[in-house]
Amino acid sequence: MEKFGFSISKGRQIDYEANDRSVADYIFARESSFRSCIECGGCAATCTTGNHTKFSLRELHILIKRGENDLARQTMKKCMLCGKCTLVCPRGVNTRNIVVLAKQAFQIFDKHAV
Ligand code: SF4
Ligand code: SF4
Repeated sequence: MEKFGFSISKGRQIDYEANDRSVADYIFARESSFRSCIECGGCAATCTTGNHTKFSLRELHILIKRGENDLARQTMKKCMLCGKCTLVCPRGVNTRNIVVLAKQAFQIFDKHAV
């Protein structure tokens, strides 16, 4: 017999004090357009990877800005660096460069190649 019903979602809190914003600061210092993002999701909507997986560039930006680096590191591996998202951003955010800089930052701070 098929199981159905409800389950309780795990609690999730954002602890800004404990989170590490070093990756975000590294990107802000090198790509000022990162500050212009309004999290509209246009980049995520056009992303080929996002159309076939759960990857979302919009979500990645938010995770990095919050300093939730473990989750960001896991998700950003899916980006192919094709640059399609950069072409559609209404705010002129250099999205591709942000992913490149995030990869650099993870290598520098975590000694962890992404
Ligand atoms: S399309 Fe541009 S402004 Fe919109 S979420 Fe993506 S990076 Fe941010
Ligand atoms: S550069 Fe990455 S996030 Fe942007 S469209 Fe290509 S795969 Fe998606």
